[in-house]
Amino acid sequence: MTKMPNKKVPQRMCIACRQMKDKFDLIRIVVKDGIATVDATNKANGRGYYLCKDVNCIEKMAKHKSFQKQYGFELSQQLIEEIKNNLN
Ligand SMILES: [Zn+2]
Repeated sequence: MTKMPNKKVPQRMCIACRQMKDKFDLIRIVVKDGIATVDATNKANGRGYYLCKDVNCIEKMAKHKSFQKQYGFELSQQLIEEIKNNLN
């Protein structure tokens, strides 16, 4: 009878470590017209990608050579800084 927890947090996959985590433990990156930004509101329109709020995952992505090819946007230094600013 206790199968369903009262609070159900949506699960999303981190694109760096490929682990499923609570949405609130992840940073959403939204891509619109080929431009990626950090979606602090979690409500922006566009293709969304998720990354752990973990500097290791962010660094891993930053070193990913075929990243742009795979996901269709560039993980620029500016974007990385923006992501790091959203870790807290
Ligand atoms: Zn991760």
